[in-house]
Amino acid sequence: MINLKELNKAGLLFHTGLLLFSIAPALIVLLLLLVAGIGFAFSLAAALLAITVFQIYGLLYRKGVTDNPIPLRLSFWSLTVLQSVYTLPLHAPEKMVVAMNNRKALSAAGRKFSSSEVLILVPHCLQNHECTIRLTFVPDSCERCGKCPIGNILEIKDRFGTHFAIASGGTSARRIVEKTCPSLIIAVACPIDLSLGILDVHPITTVGVLNEWRNGPCFDTWVNTEELAAALELFLY
Ligand code: SF4
Repeated sequence: MINLKELNKAGLLFHTGLLLFSIAPALIVLLLLLVAGIGFAFSLAAALLAITVFQIYGLLYRKGVTDNPIPLRLSFWSLTVLQSVYTLPLHAPEKMVVAMNNRKALSAAGRKFSSSEVLILVPHCLQNHECTIRLTFVPDSCERCGKCPIGNILEIKDRFGTHFAIASGGTSARRIVEKTCPSLIIAVACPIDLSLGILDVHPITTVGVLNEWRNGPCFDTWVNTEELAAALELFLY
């Protein structure tokens, strides 16, 4: 699902985002203490302590001591701001969220789920644009012709007996999750939808699989179905 190199990169980015976020509160602490007449050395030490607290919080999140995704959100927001000045590769903050989340989900892979608790959620852009079958409400009407990955995903769904749904957007995905009430979501999407969705559905365990843009974004996208099957094998009884 994700390799070690990606994980290390994501971990570094995660802590960089937290560091950026912690600069403002650290400066406030420094200024307040200086105004209160506390010496510079003590004020600086307190500001550094504030930065350290955020890093420790991040470390606790990474180690699974806390499940609360606040550090992930804070880091994501800071990196998104940083990205707006074009200093990061495309979708780096979003990919960081997906990688950090998957790392966490995998570390919890000791917990097994029954197939009825699992939802495979995919975006409608996986469907070939020439296909005339309406799948949003009845995905099983797919004829499995092989022109797009939907047919293979349906075979995986049948093999494992999980729920399966095609979302036409963020609101539709949220509605599907509310209706299905899964304990585990194997979600396929682009970095933006996947990162927002992951942060949105907490505390449901989610494994994110990025879709491939063989024809550009949101058009005849693709997914490695072996990755989906591997994730299911890992988490299902
Ligand atoms: S696999 Fe299914 S959804 Fe995809 S093009 Fe063929 S019939 Fe349509």
